[in-house]
Amino acid sequence: MRPAVFLDRDDTLMEANSLPAPPPPAAPGDVIDPALVRLLPGAREACAALKRAGFALVVVSNQGSVARGGATTAQVDAVNARLASLLGDGVIDAFYYCPFHPRGNVAAFAMEHPWRKPAPGMILAAAEDLSLDLARSWLIGDAERDIQAGLAAGIDPSRCLRVGPAMSLSQAAQRALSHFHPA
Ligand SMILES: [Mg+2]
Repeated sequence: MRPAVFLDRDDTLMEANSLPAPPPPAAPGDVIDPALVRLLPGAREACAALKRAGFALVVVSNQGSVARGGATTAQVDAVNARLASLLGDGVIDAFYYCPFHPRGNVAAFAMEHPWRKPAPGMILAAAEDLSLDLARSWLIGDAERDIQAGLAAGIDPSRCLRVGPAMSLSQAAQRALSHFHPA
C-alpha cells in the first residue's frame, strides 16, 4: 500500500482568501472561477517532489459554497481541473471535496456530512478507494480543521502539518520527504 499526502486545497495549494471576494451567496475565500486559480509559491515543486518519492497525492477540500448556493459542483470540478493542470498532469491522484454544510441554502447539500472536515470522511474514503497506507501518510493544511481531520483519520500527530507563517508548503513537503521509506 502506498502512503499518501493529503492536501487541503484553498490557501494550502492555491490562493483563496487573498483573492477578491466573489459575489454572494459565495463567501470570501470561495474560488469559483477557474481563471482565478493561482498556485501558492512552491506548490508545484513540492507536489512534484512528493509524487516522485512515491506518495499518492490526494486533495481533500471543504466546499461549503455549494451548499450556500455560491458555486455548483461543476464549478468546483472546473477549479479542481485547473489546479490539476497547473500542478502538472497526473501529479494529483484524486480530488475529494465536501459540498455539504449544515447552514446551506441548497436543500440537497444543507446538512452535516461525514466528509466535512474536521470529520475524517474524505481521508477514509480515499484510503479505501486508493488502497492507501494511513500509518505512513501525512496531512498538510492551513486550518485547524484540516489537522483535526487528519488526526480523526488516525494519521500520526507528527505527520499532520499546518502550513502558514511558521511553516511553508515547501518545508512541510521536505519534512514528509525526509521521513519517506519505501515499503
Ligand atoms: Mg484551507
